[in-house]
Amino acid sequence: MNNKQILVSEVGPRDGLQSIDSILPTEIKKQWILALANAGIQEIEVGSFVPKSLIPQLADTAEIVKYAITIPNLTVAALVPNLKGAINAIKSGAHKISIPFSTSETHSIKNVNKNHKQMIEEIKKISDYILENNHNTHLEVALATAFGCSIIGEIPEDLVISLAEQIMKAGSKEIVLSDTTGYGDPSKVRKLVRKLKATIGDSKLNSIHLHNTRGLGLANAFAAIEEGITIIDSSISGIGGCPFAPGASGNIVTEDLVFMLDAMGFDTGIDLDKLFSIRDILSKALPDEPLYGYTANAGLPLGYKH
Ligand code: ZN
Repeated sequence: MNNKQILVSEVGPRDGLQSIDSILPTEIKKQWILALANAGIQEIEVGSFVPKSLIPQLADTAEIVKYAITIPNLTVAALVPNLKGAINAIKSGAHKISIPFSTSETHSIKNVNKNHKQMIEEIKKISDYILENNHNTHLEVALATAFGCSIIGEIPEDLVISLAEQIMKAGSKEIVLSDTTGYGDPSKVRKLVRKLKATIGDSKLNSIHLHNTRGLGLANAFAAIEEGITIIDSSISGIGGCPFAPGASGNIVTEDLVFMLDAMGFDTGIDLDKLFSIRDILSKALPDEPLYGYTANAGLPLGYKH
């Protein structure tokens, strides 16, 4: 990947859907994922292998993964909280699995009922399972709440760095920096990306996962790119929103991110007009959910060449 290429990793079918009450029918999800791929999206996190009782919106993840891997040139990612989820994801054929690891231990215990030591042990088990079964599944760990936690507040940078080192030692192939709470700002993003890359190795931190809770998502994405990040998570129409911040999208909005990158001359491989048209699928399927983002509503600038 040259420095003008950015991979936009779509997380709407996982992060977006898990934050809303409506349950999207499996067939509509398939249609949506295919439309994303046809617009040029090359990586999609299509679901999460968690118990149905916890997130019923994602209960069909195994079927969705099995479908998505039939789409050519698409990397299919899934979130897994533990070994059981990882085994199911691998058996379904997911190319990439992502384990959320809360740098806030309080959040970790509340979220997955495991402290840091137990989470490290779980990562080791998953990594061993992949090695023993000779699977090519790519294992990455997302450092959630890395910029702050809504229960305990600030997370010391040194803790984030030390956890990243332990996670890599436990067998993760890569670290994803995740601003779960939208506490990050461009300065903090720059500093943490730089420090993490210096500690775990430049090639071990390529991705960032941003939320737009306070409107700084795109600014944070740009700061991350300037520090060498090449994969940015976003969600089409920012679906999901933020329950604590009405009016704020959930993740950063894919349409706006792609417009920014495209306008700046980065190659994303994504067709903006095709991307905008996916909003129609969502507005029909989720009539009660607001769709976020500016670019699709405003249209492209007059004479825009892309
Ligand atoms: Zn998220």
